[in-house]
Amino acid sequence: MLGRMDLRNAFTIGRIRGVAIQVHWSWLLVFVLIAWSLAGVVYADEKPEWSDNQLWTAGLISSLLFFVSVLLHELSHTFVALHYGMSVPAITLFVFGGVSQMAGEMRSPRQEFFIAVVGPLASWGLAIAFGALWVAFRSEGISVVFGYLAAVNFLLGAFNLLPGFPLDGGRVFRSIVWARVHDLTRATRIASLVGIAIAWLLIGLGAVSVLAFGGLGGLWYVLIGLFLKNASESAYAQVLLERALKGVTAGDVMRPPPASVPETWSLQELAEERVLGQAERVFFTESLGRISGLITVTDLTRVPRERWGETTVRAAMVPSEQVHTVEPGVSVLEAMRLMQEHDVNQLPVLDEGRLVGLLTRGDVLQRLELNTLVGNFEPPRAAGGSSRK
Ligand SMILES: [Zn+2]
Repeated sequence: MLGRMDLRNAFTIGRIRGVAIQVHWSWLLVFVLIAWSLAGVVYADEKPEWSDNQLWTAGLISSLLFFVSVLLHELSHTFVALHYGMSVPAITLFVFGGVSQMAGEMRSPRQEFFIAVVGPLASWGLAIAFGALWVAFRSEGISVVFGYLAAVNFLLGAFNLLPGFPLDGGRVFRSIVWARVHDLTRATRIASLVGIAIAWLLIGLGAVSVLAFGGLGGLWYVLIGLFLKNASESAYAQVLLERALKGVTAGDVMRPPPASVPETWSLQELAEERVLGQAERVFFTESLGRISGLITVTDLTRVPRERWGETTVRAAMVPSEQVHTVEPGVSVLEAMRLMQEHDVNQLPVLDEGRLVGLLTRGDVLQRLELNTLVGNFEPPRAAGGSSRK
């Protein structure tokens, strides 16, 4: 279980209790790499009497069962999270293991502790199970596969217990700090700093190992260290972001809807009349007096300049039915998530179908900067009084 990262290039292979099981392309690389190194090196050393066919079969089976092991580790997190009422849209397997994408707030240190600790325990359970199979089939050739899986699951559990947030161990650590200081942001800050320290330790150990012994094993630690450092930093940034934007709605940050332009205009007209010398970058388009879609400066620049004269706004715009929108009451965090998911920089704000404004990523970030400058931020309330304590 690791922090958020860009896992959009993943495909879904199935669903378990509504949770999409996804594989990121980088995992395929690992799958082949594991099968290849087991067949070509590890098993080839241990079983010199095996044919290439046998070696590759054992390598592929091991890699597949490793895949299942990582999946079971993630499923254990997922099931406990579901038990606590969180929603888990997807589990994604990628180059460094797996991520359970959880939505919903960690409500208590206890909840976080159990969701995190169950993963390494599941891996160790698997290590024990494969260890038992290894003992049971000791005299058979297949025992090397069980031996490998016992070892790798043990290491998986142990590595994840490192107290580097957002590794499982780091989450366990954060839950303990959280229970003591009663402040999730502070606990996250402390856990992230420890995570970054652990990351540097891995990078250092990896570098020393590469220098002293050569080989790629050390490089792997450097890569994992860099990944962990990145994840620690962004996990903390995420908590700060959530804290700063808590209670702020799309309606609080939106700007008035920009002027609309006729669909029949050419891009040249749009550029000359509206874009040049003006700060606006987003325009609604209209046809027969009704809003028909959205066109941005990005859409404009996608068309080669020499074709602006002959291309209409209609040809380059995004029609209404493809434009994602939000309601004014939606939290800015949710709106930001939507923008990220659909890879857009703005969302029209509709109140019961009526266009009331435009929410842009830039406006949200500016608001955020303002909050950081002001320090302690209290979201403005349009109605219903202030929540100041
Ligand atoms: Zn985990």
